[in-house]
Formats: sequence, C-alpha cells, structure tokens
Amino acid sequence: MKLKRKADRLRSLNRSLPRIIALSGIILTLAVIGLNIWTLRETWRDTLNQAQQMAVNLSLSQARQADDTLLQTELSLREVQHKVLDQASTGVDGAALSQTMRELQSRLPQLHGLFYYDAQGKWIATSEKVVPQNINNSDREYFQYHRTNPRDSVHIGPVIRSRSTGELVIPVSLRVNDSSGGFSGVLLATIRVDYFRRYYSYYEMGARDVLVLMLPDSTVLYARPMPDSYIGKNLSSSRLFQSLLAKYDRGGGQWHAALDGQARVFGFARSERYSLVVAAGYDKDNLFISWLKARVKDVLLDLALLLGIMLMGAYVLTQARRSARNQQELTRLRDELTAANLSLENLANADGLTGLANRRQFDIFLQQSLLNAAERNEPVSLLLMDIDYFKRYNDTYGHVAGDVCLKTVADALKELAMRSSDKVARYGGEEFAIILPGATQLDALYIAREAVKAVSARNIAHNSSSIAAHVTLSAGCATFMPDRDRLDPQALIEKADEALYLAKHGGRNQARRYG
Ligand code: GH3
Ligand code: MG
Ligand code: MG
Repeated sequence: MKLKRKADRLRSLNRSLPRIIALSGIILTLAVIGLNIWTLRETWRDTLNQAQQMAVNLSLSQARQADDTLLQTELSLREVQHKVLDQASTGVDGAALSQTMRELQSRLPQLHGLFYYDAQGKWIATSEKVVPQNINNSDREYFQYHRTNPRDSVHIGPVIRSRSTGELVIPVSLRVNDSSGGFSGVLLATIRVDYFRRYYSYYEMGARDVLVLMLPDSTVLYARPMPDSYIGKNLSSSRLFQSLLAKYDRGGGQWHAALDGQARVFGFARSERYSLVVAAGYDKDNLFISWLKARVKDVLLDLALLLGIMLMGAYVLTQARRSARNQQELTRLRDELTAANLSLENLANADGLTGLANRRQFDIFLQQSLLNAAERNEPVSLLLMDIDYFKRYNDTYGHVAGDVCLKTVADALKELAMRSSDKVARYGGEEFAIILPGATQLDALYIAREAVKAVSARNIAHNSSSIAAHVTLSAGCATFMPDRDRLDPQALIEKADEALYLAKHGGRNQARRYG
C-alpha cells in the first residue's frame, strides 16, 4: 500500500515535471524582460535628469555672464553720466566726451558704441569717428522710455539695427537729468549681438540644442543656433514664462520650445542683477538616439541571453517530456512483466491435470505452515489420500478415463468446506494431500472423513473394485504440535502415510488418524 502510494506520487511528479519546467521558463523569461524594461526606463530617466542638470548649469553660467557683460557696460555709461553732469553748468563739450567714449569703448570687446543724445534726440557725442548732424534718435524705444520715465536705472531694450554701422545691437541706456531733475537727454551703449553669438559658439552643443538669451518680457536677444530672424521674437506663450518664472528664478523641465515647437529638456535661469532670462535646451530626439546607441549593446546582449535561456528551456522541456514518456513506458512494461511472472509462477506451481497445487508448491507450503505454526504455537494437520484400486480402474477403463477420474476426485476435494488458509494438492499419481494450518487431530479426522464421503458421493463407476461398484478413497491424517514435535515436514508426511496405510489395511474407503 505504501509502495503503491509512493509509485503514484512519482508518476504524478513525472507527469507534472514538463509543466513545472515550462512554467518556470515562462516566469524566467518574463522576469528577464521585465528587468530589462525597468533598467531601460531607469537609464532613460537618468539621461533626462542629467541633461536637465546640464541645462540648468549652463543657463546659470550664461545668466551670470550676461550680468557681467551688462555691468561692465553700465559702469562705462555711469562714467560718461558723471562727466555729463559735471559739465551741466558749462555746457557739454561734445568732442571731449566723444574722446572719452572712444577710450571706454576700446576697453570692452562687447561694446559696439557709446552715444549721447540731447533732450531732442540730437547726437551730441559718440565713440564713433564722426558725429552725424542730420540723424535724430528721438524715435527710438529707449529714448521714449527715458523721456517719460524719471528712474535712474539702466534700461535694456530689444535688439535694433545700428543706424551708424548696420550691425545688430542690444541698446543699453541711461537717462540724463539737468540740475533741476528734468530730462536732458539719453546715454546709450550698444552691445554687439555678435559678441553673444561668438560666446555661445564656444559651447559644444548639438545642432538642434538651443541656448537663448531673453529680456525679462521674453523678447529674444539672441538664440543659438537659430537664424537672426528669431531675434526679437516674443516667447511669452512658452511654459517658461507662463508658469515657471512666476515661481522660480532657476530650474528645469521638459516642454515644446515656443521657438520652433521642438521637444527639449530645458534648464533656465534669471540673471540676478538685470533679470535677463537664459534658457538652455537639449533636443529630446537627439538625447534619445544617443541613449539608444549607448544601450544597444546591453539590449542585444540581454536579448541573446534571453534567447539562450529560451533555447535551453526548450531543450530541457523536450528532455523532460521524453523522460516522462520513457518512465510511463517502463512502468507499463514492468506491469506487464509482473503479470507475466505471476501467471508463470502459477503455472509452475499448479498441477497440469487437476489445477491443484503441485508437489513443489505442496512442499513449500508445508514447510512454511510448520514454521508459522511453531511461531504462533498452533497445530498443523496433514491429510494424505489415495484412490483405491486405481490400477484396476486404469486397466478396466483405460488411461484417458483414469485422468478424467483423477480430475473428478480433485474437484470433489476442492469443494470440501475448508478455511481459506487450507491447501489442497496433488501429491503424486493418484495421491492427494490437504494441509490444514491451525487444525487439531480431531478437525483433521473430520475433514478426512468428509473427503472420503465426498469422493464416494461422486459415484464414479468402478466395476473392478473389490469394495464397491464406484471409486473410493482412503485417507490418513497426522497433526504437528509445536510443543511436542520436531519441526520436520518429512516426519509429518511419514505419520500421515502411516495413518493412510492403516486405512488401506483396515479395508479402504475410510479415514484414519496417526497414533
Ligand atoms: P491401492 O488400493 O492399494 O492403492 O491399489 P492401486 O491400484 O490404487 O495402487 P497402485 O499404486 O498399485 O496403482 C496406482 C496406479 O495409478 C498406477 C498408475 O497406473 C495409476 N496412475 C498413476 N498416475 C496416473 C495418472 O496420472 N493417470 C492415470 N490414468 N493413471 C495413473
Ligand atoms: Mg498409490
Ligand atoms: Mg491407490
């Protein structure tokens, strides 16, 4: 029972093994794919974060640079402003002021020019070679700003084209007051847009990455690498001006540039002194391509690994399936073999004519019964039976009829009421035996008498018998008592045979017991 359960468990394990392997393979594959996707997402996020950090840093340094450039310019303007104020009572000496302006201009590379216009917009002094007489600058935005605005702070205006040289310049201006505080002209410094263009070209950036310098109101002063047509563009629709700059002076994020609609990773900063805004943006498509290029080797390697795992899994799976099939086949063969062995054993132990146990089995069973009896301290009885005058039966009716008679006698013995542990055997020729484990001498004598009666009752005609007109049987029985007898099958057989001899000599067709 235990063995059977173990075999069943093994068989069901064998059946489910391929399923377990397939399931493990699927889980492993999904895990590798999941891990890869997760890693890719993380590295992409890192790439974006790094780009944003770089953009923020670049914006901060450029905002600082813009402040420095403007501060130098303002200092030059202030110097000129002092001179103009000093000369307010005597009247400004245009030629001397122009000379001062030329000296100041030559010191600062960003300075395109310095100019002084009187309250009507007329040129009074300039760093340029000649002071034009017929040009009036009162129409300029900065001029109108200072005329109406009494504040003594620097004003930075949108980019204009220089009237003297035709260059694109950023106007930086200061108001000049008379002694009573009234408007008495404008001091102007112009900064070359080219100065920023050159400065921004020093940075290694992609063709679609941008670096933009803007006025506080979002008007573009310079945008790298855009053409000059972008200068003066208003970017107030950008997320930068819509929400971010309202809360932060520096920061970053991702959005579509208001400049050209391209998706970029941005950093921005507002300059501390002049509130100019610088934004640096890295093109997201480019970032993605570089990221992909960097990851492609890893991804290919992981895919190869995955393929390897899948192939190995498939191989193991087919092997497991094959092994399970072999196992089933082996089990089936073993069952067949066991069945064949069993029927062979039955054949070897059975008597061919009567189907009773043969002599070989009789010997084994008797030996075993005696051992059991000794162990349990129980008796064993043995019956030996012999057909009376059977030689004459053969002589009278022939050998074939003799065989039939033997079978009939055997059937009669089989049908005797006995225990399942009892064993009827053909002892030899026309002799039979019954082993009765646990039976006492009296039990045995009773069965022996029943056997004699049963054969008589078959009423098999036997005309040449000396004691009846039908076949009769003589029986002798003996009993083994473990506390009394030696454990010797042969001794028991001899005792039963002695009893049989008594039955024969006592007139046959009867049963006798030993002793
Ligand atoms: P008794 O009453 O003293 O036993 O006389 P008996 O003739 O039965 O005894 P005996 O031992 O002289 O004869 C036994 C006969 O049984 C001899 C043999 O021809 C016959 N015989 C033994 N085995 C077989 C068998 O398998 N088939 C047939 N038909 N006869 C057998
Ligand atoms: Mg005999
Ligand atoms: Mg006989």
